[in-house]
Amino acid sequence: MRRGCISLGRVNCDVCGRVIQYPERYLCIDEENGVEVEKGKMVRYCAGCAFNKGYAHYKEEKGEKTLSFFTETDINQV
Ligand SMILES: [Zn+2]
Repeated sequence: MRRGCISLGRVNCDVCGRVIQYPERYLCIDEENGVEVEKGKMVRYCAGCAFNKGYAHYKEEKGEKTLSFFTETDINQV
């Protein structure tokens, strides 16, 4: 499963290894062998890596581009 988080400044992206600075958003996701699963190894993605992997997309809202970690379907289910 996916969780959108906000960095407090001591988080490293597990993919590219860079430090995710406060208050940047990042994604925690359960993975097994690189595939998203319900319960697996927790992997942290910075915004760029999440986007590259297809876990995030940009949407435009009130003229501002924001990064979303969830699909519209996920949001509707909450
Ligand atoms: Zn990264």
